Amino acid sequence: MTTPVRDLPLLFLGEGADPASERGVDCPGDLPPASDPALVERARAAKEALGDRVFVLGHHYQRDEVIQFADVTGDSFKLARQAAARPEAPYIVFCGVHFMAESADILTADHQSVVLPDLAAGCSMADMATFDQVEECWDVLEDAGIADGVVPVTYMNSSADIKAFVGRHGGTVCTSSNAKRALDWAYGKGEKVLFLPDQHLGRNTAVLEMGFALDDCVVYNPHRPDGGLTQKELRDAKMILWRGHCSVHGRFSKESVDEVRDRVPGVNVLVHPECRHEVVLGADLIGSTEYIIKTIEAAPSGSSWAVGTELNLVRRLANAHPDKNVMFLDKTVCFCSTMNRIDLPHLVRSLESLAAGEVVNRIQVDEETAHYARAALDQMLALPS
Ligand code: SF4
Repeated sequence: MTTPVRDLPLLFLGEGADPASERGVDCPGDLPPASDPALVERARAAKEALGDRVFVLGHHYQRDEVIQFADVTGDSFKLARQAAARPEAPYIVFCGVHFMAESADILTADHQSVVLPDLAAGCSMADMATFDQVEECWDVLEDAGIADGVVPVTYMNSSADIKAFVGRHGGTVCTSSNAKRALDWAYGKGEKVLFLPDQHLGRNTAVLEMGFALDDCVVYNPHRPDGGLTQKELRDAKMILWRGHCSVHGRFSKESVDEVRDRVPGVNVLVHPECRHEVVLGADLIGSTEYIIKTIEAAPSGSSWAVGTELNLVRRLANAHPDKNVMFLDKTVCFCSTMNRIDLPHLVRSLESLAAGEVVNRIQVDEETAHYARAALDQMLALPS
């Protein structure tokens, strides 16, 4: 005799869940713990054996089973700076994605090794701008006679190669918190900006914070000849946006905003500036992950928040603030698949290998690339506040 599906002790995805929140409902019956207790113990023991020799960084979008071992949590830039502030730790384990570990390697001392627990943890946005493509784009700008007046600005979410390209051409790195300051600085130096690799952050900052018209921005498509733009279009534009986006934040739509407003009276819509322009236009508040966290922390009890960012973070915020109604903006589950590659088995392997004196999965940026990338990062640090 088979057991009827409904009598089984496990909660099926979506069944009985609370659609208005990320909290779900209690699962009936005996369930295994969320993380394998044997692995949790191995991670704890290896970290304890390493003591001050290891510093574990956890990006906000990491899984709970990983974030519990982080010495510090934050966004990519905060984490890179935290790594640089710990010169006494020879090992930095970066629970995040590849470009973040590269930045940590650039900003830390030579005697420190930066480890990425899974080398396959990349970033689809960073991968949308390769060095060769950006070099080719610069040639197109030179052919159009405008390269001398263009200042390149790259989002932190880009490879070390791209940061180095920007450093070589007198530009700067920016984060989602300081993009406007970076653009103000860049327009004080040149007439146009080439913004890499996230078109949405570039457009949202230019239009919503700097008063540009949408028509002042053009999109350079690296998969089309000359970026798909005429020389006149390039000469007329003030902002040349690279055709890149975040596969997580790019999923939110204007329909998700309208749907949540219909469903949850009085809801506040809070989104990351990597979201599409129409989503940001429909939101109440826009800001970086750090801003999102602070906003939810400061929100009054009983208030409702639909948050447009990665699901691990939204779920953690919902659990940390049970007095507030915190929900995911979209109905579709939306983790960052590359961030999620860092799991407990990979973290255990990294920590146990380090404890045994073996550095695995080290991320090392070559000296020349690091030199120019550091110039672009230093320029960001020097931006007027
Ligand atoms: S959330 Fe988006 S930008 Fe961040 S690592 Fe994932 S794909 Fe890259």
